Amino acid sequence: MLQSKSDTSINNAYLAGGGEMGQLIRSYDWQNSAIGAPDKWSQSLLTTISIILNSKFPMFLWWGPQLIQFYNDAYRPSLGNNGKHPTALGQPGEECWPEIWTVIKPLIDQVMTGQEATWSEDQLIPIYRNNALEDVYWTFGYSRVNDETGKPAGVLVICNETTDKVKAYNEIHRANKELEFAIEAAELGTWDLDPKTNVFMGNDRLKTWFGLPHDEKIDLEKATNVVVEKDRERVIAAIFNAVQNGSDGNYNIIYTIQSPVDNIPRIVKAIGKALFDSDGNAYRLSGILQDVTDEFQLQQRKDEFISVASHELKTPITSLKASMQILQKLIKEDQTSIKLPLFVDKANNNVGKLTNLLDDLMSVSKVQNGQLILNKTWINLANLINGCCDHVRLAGTHEIILKGNTELMVCADYVRIDQVIVNLVNNAVKYAPHSKEIIINIGLSNGMALVSVKDFGIGISPEKMPHLFDRYYRVDTSGVQFSGLGLGLYISAEIIKRHNGQIWVESELGKGATFYFTLPIEQ
Ligand code: ADP
Repeated sequence: MLQSKSDTSINNAYLAGGGEMGQLIRSYDWQNSAIGAPDKWSQSLLTTISIILNSKFPMFLWWGPQLIQFYNDAYRPSLGNNGKHPTALGQPGEECWPEIWTVIKPLIDQVMTGQEATWSEDQLIPIYRNNALEDVYWTFGYSRVNDETGKPAGVLVICNETTDKVKAYNEIHRANKELEFAIEAAELGTWDLDPKTNVFMGNDRLKTWFGLPHDEKIDLEKATNVVVEKDRERVIAAIFNAVQNGSDGNYNIIYTIQSPVDNIPRIVKAIGKALFDSDGNAYRLSGILQDVTDEFQLQQRKDEFISVASHELKTPITSLKASMQILQKLIKEDQTSIKLPLFVDKANNNVGKLTNLLDDLMSVSKVQNGQLILNKTWINLANLINGCCDHVRLAGTHEIILKGNTELMVCADYVRIDQVIVNLVNNAVKYAPHSKEIIINIGLSNGMALVSVKDFGIGISPEKMPHLFDRYYRVDTSGVQFSGLGLGLYISAEIIKRHNGQIWVESELGKGATFYFTLPIEQ
């Protein structure tokens, strides 16, 4: 039903209020618009505008076949500055929204043709505002407004701009991803304990280390049961102390766990912090877990190394000192002729041992400081091997049998490859005290020179083999049976790696060992 001119005051009542937009709507020149002056407006339009103007929730209306636009103060900020406001008021929809018309027109049509109202959440609809096409996110619904005859006459948009929310969410998501990436790259476990319920959560890595199911929250006791017995009480006490009322909340502890699944002992370092409420009660204890097994073992080996190295250096020095004292005595007593050469030999021998030990120590620091510089020349491998085995032949304890391709030449650093072979041959002598033969073979494999040194000595158990080439590693750490620094194979491996070759071992405990290395023929 259309209203007559005499109803102007009623119309004014419908268009009352509404802040800036109410003012603009009232002063707009509707007479020259497609929907005419307000006194011609239908009751339905007036009621809808009244609802819009009196709402604090952002609302927008398209009315009539031209989709003439109205919106309220709550909606207005979404149009930004230097953009569509205030021209959007009274403007036909298609003129106002060219940049998104293809997206929104189907929704308008859906509603105007009597189909269901629409609902979109946090949808990206870029609009032109603030002098630019901006990415704007909206949660909105389009609903039909009928005229008095019950026919669709307009589309009411109740909407909320969610750009800030979506951006904040994206930012949190990005920060979380970054954190996840850092945790992943640092190979950390993460954990979070509720001290009130003792329910424990952790990331997958932590659950794998503890051998706990991945898809469950875990009771703290289940986790502490995985801590090895000697450390368990200490860990429980540290947790208890961190969450105690009045504590500084710090939790920092190293302990060993042994998962019931893989049975691998892992030394872990846990760092955490408790959070307290205003009454001083802890409501959360969370932090990270780091697998420090390798560092710990390396440190342990370093400590052992220092005692082994002192012992190894002391033996030849003591022996050297004794030889010198005897020589001094012999010279004093003028008995030089018979025994002098014997003790000079002994002294020389011990100086040789000291030189070898110091060479190894110096090579290690060179390797670590990246100063292992290779000086490559063409070398006949058989000649090199023969040359560096003379000391063994002279000692007469072992027989070196050289087989294979004695013509093979490689381009490598003579001094360094000599050092590798001397290390391997000396080990073959040292760790095979009761057998006589050492077989060295020179061959070709996949276009590389392949050298093997085989002995028939004590061999190596399978679980020790992966560590042989580690720094300071010794199978017999006590050094009771065999002396050594645990450096020879580490240095050899580094030298071979620097030549782009490979080094490995095959062995059976009690049956001897064969060490292999490859070298590219041409570098
Ligand atoms: P080391 O000075 O202790 O001999 P290496 O680095 O040369 O140091 O060797 C590391 C460890 O590997 C040795 O302590 C020894 O236990 C083991 N090993 C090396 N060569 C042999 C071998 N031929 N037979 C058995 N065990 C060996």
